[in-house]
Amino acid sequence: METKQFKAESKRLLDLMINSIYTHREIFLRELISNASDAIDKIYYKALTDDSITFEKENYYIKILSDKENRTIRISDTGIGMTREELDDNLGVIAKSGSLNFKKENESKEGHDIIGQFGVGFYSAFLVADKVTVISKAFGSNEAYKWESKGVEGYTIEPCDKDSFGTEIILKIKENTEDENFDEYIDEYKLKSIIKKYSDFIRYPIKMDITESRLKKDSENEFEEYVEEQVINSMVPLWRKNKNELKEEDYENFYSEKHYGFDKPIKHIHISVDGAVSYNSILFIPEKTPYDFYTKEYEKGLELYSNGVLIMNKCSDLLPDYFGFVKGIVDSEDLSLNISREILQHDRQLKLIAKNIKTKIKNELENILKNEREKYEKFYESFGRQLKYGVYSDFGANKDVLQDLLMFYSSKEKKMVTLAEYVSRMAEDQKYIYYASGESNERIEKMPQTELLLDKGYEILYFTDEVDEFAIRMLMSYKEKEFKSVSSGDLGIEPEENEKDSTLEDDNKELFGYMKDVLKDKVKDVRASKRLKNHAVCLSNEGELTIEMEKILNSMPNNENIKADKVLEINVNNEVFKALKEAYEKDKEKLSLYTDLLYNQALLIEGLSINDPVEFTNNICKIML
Ligand code: ADP
Ligand code: MG
Repeated sequence: METKQFKAESKRLLDLMINSIYTHREIFLRELISNASDAIDKIYYKALTDDSITFEKENYYIKILSDKENRTIRISDTGIGMTREELDDNLGVIAKSGSLNFKKENESKEGHDIIGQFGVGFYSAFLVADKVTVISKAFGSNEAYKWESKGVEGYTIEPCDKDSFGTEIILKIKENTEDENFDEYIDEYKLKSIIKKYSDFIRYPIKMDITESRLKKDSENEFEEYVEEQVINSMVPLWRKNKNELKEEDYENFYSEKHYGFDKPIKHIHISVDGAVSYNSILFIPEKTPYDFYTKEYEKGLELYSNGVLIMNKCSDLLPDYFGFVKGIVDSEDLSLNISREILQHDRQLKLIAKNIKTKIKNELENILKNEREKYEKFYESFGRQLKYGVYSDFGANKDVLQDLLMFYSSKEKKMVTLAEYVSRMAEDQKYIYYASGESNERIEKMPQTELLLDKGYEILYFTDEVDEFAIRMLMSYKEKEFKSVSSGDLGIEPEENEKDSTLEDDNKELFGYMKDVLKDKVKDVRASKRLKNHAVCLSNEGELTIEMEKILNSMPNNENIKADKVLEINVNNEVFKALKEAYEKDKEKLSLYTDLLYNQALLIEGLSINDPVEFTNNICKIML
């Protein structure tokens, strides 16, 4: 018998399990029971496709026994069992099934985050036990094996005896410490309540030998104790239960039992539909963004059951991408059990369910927005970006579903507002919904281009997500109001009487013409600004592509050097303009220098990089001399 080492990652996790102070140690039972239930499922599936196997329901169960004297508990199942190789493979390495992606970056985090986030499965046994023994006999095999481990040092595997196939896990419960009481994990009553709490809807009976007391025969006041095997779980899946019987807590327990997330969901949606298609469903809107949500690794989807039997872990066809954050299950009698993935995709029933679910989610989100604003804002912080991607993707096909769920930061309210709120507040003479794009609210607030609009009392939406402007382009308009960037050439504002000096442009035609020649094709034009109040210069853009879009597109791989058509706007009411005029008359070389400086300043204000920073700083030095 040799002692084998755990793989490095498993070792790290084991260490965490053994040493971290963790408040939810009781979840070990949920994990071991769920493995036992999975193991019985596997026989059930086999029986579905293999006629030589019959699945007699009464032969399949999970049994929990506690032994106070020896300080052990025993979890046995009549499931598929494990061969020697499987014991080695499945219990020697973490994340066989991919349920745990134990990443380096998580090392620094609190232990319980990792446990909650991934559901560490089998290893959670070490939360309460200092020795774990697994005795298993695989279905169809004559040999049984014993796997044993006391933690990080490693594990052993040796042959042993076991009558029937299945698995038995024996936990030697830790001794009490100063801070923690482990006795409760051998306490019958406590174990029973843990099973009720986390594993009530497991489809197979979870049995325990419960000590009860009764009146002694022929006695009026003498009691005797007797032991009776009881089934602890109700076996009715949560989604089949009546909504009215369930408490918020039941849903929250279900959420963590299913490893949907380590947060508390913002909302659950419990659906029971009987009609053209019948199904039960429980959906959750999470609060926090899963760590991998905005990466390619994230897999959306709902658990799909046919009449109580799991047929797919993550059925992605049930959710549109933009609602990919939703977690939950769907159970329908109308789906066939051994349906393949390919067929499922084209299944009419499934499509109906998906459509129905989409509407339910949309309505629920609108409800939260209407009635629980704070909650919605929290949600939006986590998943708003996904909704905006949704508007942008598929050529805007989903805008009707999504546009009323969007929010942006408002210059007026100093908080997030919806488009409907914006439009309802628009001034009578205001033609457009104005927005400004930039890195952060603070930076946008200082943008020279916003001066005139703010002066007129117009509200501006701040776009700080890369996707914002692209999404809005797809939307084009909201309630017939078009969107307009504060940097666009024409803001659609009628100049006021006293400001109408069309001669201005003509007067300075030559000056601006000269400046344009200095800048060559770096800009499309140099013009007198109609929007600047205090600032000396800014850039605006002509055409479809805005400066913010230029930045974003150029930051993406494989993009050619994309350029927005920029116009350098000069504030003719600013002192600097006088200097320009003077230079134009007396010293052309100086004007070239000024032009270059102003252009580069405008670039800096936009957050664009200067072509030649050395030349720029040299030029600044020149004017100091
Ligand atoms: P997961 O359940 O997510 O796969 P676990 O760590 O809980 O991860 O379990 C690891 C693997 O060990 C399981 O996938 C399964 O193959 C095997 N296993 C664990 N418990 C049992 C059991 N009671 N019967 C059969 N196989 C089991
Ligand atoms: Mg498991």
